[in-house]
Amino acid sequence: MTASDDLESIRKGIDEVDARILELLAQRRAHSIRAARLKEVEGAPSRDSFREEDLIADRIAHGLDHGIDSGLVNSVWREIIDDSVRAQRDYLGRTEDDPRTLTIAIQGIEGSYSWLASRRFFAARGFTEPSFVRSASFAEAFAAVRDGRADVGVLPIENTTSGAISEVYDLLLDSGLYVIGETRYRVRHCLLGVPGASVPGLRKIFAHPQAAAQCSDFLSTLENCEVVVFGDTALSGKEIGRTGDSGVAAIASEEAGRLFGLEVLQTGIANREHNYTRFVVVSGAPASIPVGVPAKTSIVIAVGNRPGGLVDALEVFTDADVNLIKLESRPIPDTPTEELFYLDFEGAADDPGIAEMLGTLTSHVHYLKVLGSYPSRDLRQRPPALPRRGLAARASLVDHPVAPAAAVGYKLGSRTHKGNNTIVEIGSVRLGEDPLVVIAGPCAVESWDQVMAAARAVKEGGGRILRGGCFKPRTSPYSFQGLGMEGLEMLGEAGRAFGLPIITEVLAPDQVAAVAALADVLQVGARNMQNFSLLSAVGRVHRPVMLKRGMSSSLDEWLQAAEYILAEGNQQVFLCERGIRTFETSTRNTLDISAVPVLMQRTHLPVIVDPSHAAGDRSLVGPLAHAAAAIGAHGIMVEIHPDPDNALSDGPQSLRLDQFERLMESLGVQRGVEPSPPPPPNPE
Ligand code: PEP
Ligand code: MN
Repeated sequence: MTASDDLESIRKGIDEVDARILELLAQRRAHSIRAARLKEVEGAPSRDSFREEDLIADRIAHGLDHGIDSGLVNSVWREIIDDSVRAQRDYLGRTEDDPRTLTIAIQGIEGSYSWLASRRFFAARGFTEPSFVRSASFAEAFAAVRDGRADVGVLPIENTTSGAISEVYDLLLDSGLYVIGETRYRVRHCLLGVPGASVPGLRKIFAHPQAAAQCSDFLSTLENCEVVVFGDTALSGKEIGRTGDSGVAAIASEEAGRLFGLEVLQTGIANREHNYTRFVVVSGAPASIPVGVPAKTSIVIAVGNRPGGLVDALEVFTDADVNLIKLESRPIPDTPTEELFYLDFEGAADDPGIAEMLGTLTSHVHYLKVLGSYPSRDLRQRPPALPRRGLAARASLVDHPVAPAAAVGYKLGSRTHKGNNTIVEIGSVRLGEDPLVVIAGPCAVESWDQVMAAARAVKEGGGRILRGGCFKPRTSPYSFQGLGMEGLEMLGEAGRAFGLPIITEVLAPDQVAAVAALADVLQVGARNMQNFSLLSAVGRVHRPVMLKRGMSSSLDEWLQAAEYILAEGNQQVFLCERGIRTFETSTRNTLDISAVPVLMQRTHLPVIVDPSHAAGDRSLVGPLAHAAAAIGAHGIMVEIHPDPDNALSDGPQSLRLDQFERLMESLGVQRGVEPSPPPPPNPE
């Protein structure tokens, strides 16, 4: 037998298999039609997406048993199901069950690449006639989804020629929306003009800056022709159609040309023939990905500013055997020394292996936010990421059953989630690791002289962080409410003069961004411990947060409040015991000293003690501070004032500066280095 005979017989074998596949497909269709008859009797819709997803997951699992990769099974069975649905609808004489309506927010108008990409993406999912919310900017498109005017948004995130679209990355982080899909669209720029126009007669070209950049080689060949920047590719085409000017052309897609009655004057004008834009699909709710469907997850992390921080975080992926696909960095507003990292990796966040890996990752980062998980065609030729090695390795580390964290309402803050202590990095302070960190300063910033005198005493006494209230949560609305942002600026200047990071309290979610821009640590006070919208807001920023105990809160309630912050992404949280309400009236509050060791059993977050608000009386601050140090608190926070008798708030509990100095000596806290001379006060 010759080689060609061999090939001949193999081909015959393939023909036979294909004939059987076709026969089986016909049989499958016959079953579908029988099912349609039953559906008719029951009045059931011909499409049941839950069953479809279960079915696909099941077929993927069987495919893997036969060594067939999940991507192939996923795409073939989606086709088969679509065919069944069509066959059933034909049989039932229905066009659609219920018209599948969908409203999509895009930046741009009909004919724009966002429009084309979203139509193609959603047509494949049964939404053949979606409606659009056309937005002037990316931010508006996000807003349309957030406030419910659109079901989803489709936004370009990167282009193979011009790179990342940073604005969309930044908006994605703060939008509160989830990435639920992605699609890659081949951008084919054409030169469009009114009928009769020709390239040599052109005087002006309307182009979006990105499109102009992607076609710069072609544009440079045109003589006496001005490029006019246009915010929108399709709109530029529409504008030409409207004016009918044959001296003007636009760069847009051929489809846009058809929509606006324009002619294609030239195709293939991009610098690179292959020019793709990746779009993300965003929605108000996360997608749930059936097991086994090839998926990607996008997250954002911040790792602090230390050698090896990023590598530590990335090693978590290696350990879990998870394929990292993309890493993009973006600056953090108000934090010039740090970057945010956007990561895409293989696997869905609700896959148990990936969920566990993300849990581990939270203990290696300062901030983590999951943007969403979504099916990805990029991965279709590969088996799904099922992290096995890492899972097994970690399972052997857990030598006791995991505490039912859900039952106590916190997880990220629990010891079972993270064994080693969190270290909160505040300038050179490593709270949670350094010996007794002292935070001190006035209850409220009152004047330049007052805050400077206090800052000097803090530095000279060996304190590491300067405190000062600027927005004061006073029990009575008639008490001094603080100097607000003006006070915060003074506090910042005093901190800079003495090389001390500063901490101040935030009272409301809408203050968080402005205070975070100037303060090194945000304080959430006792009265706000369960202000959940404030907790979520401080969870979204990149500043450490000190959460004080509510005056009538249990330790578990307190840890659940901390969980609100952690769950939003911010992992740099520490707790401050400041006394609770009891029947005892001899002290302002009762310092719950046992909270310190109990918390240390339950959480990895650093714990400090505020003896001032617990005591309410300066004569008791020293003994309580010593108790805190003795029991192993990571730090203390003490109120001090150059003239406590005339303090505008909490004078009775504030130490005089000399008393503070003696306390620091008695605690054995190292004295600070010589302070630099303070700058002159503000001119007025
Ligand atoms: C404070 O530290 O300034 C303060 C107001 O404390 P608390 O929230 O514990 O009352
Ligand atoms: Mn106070």
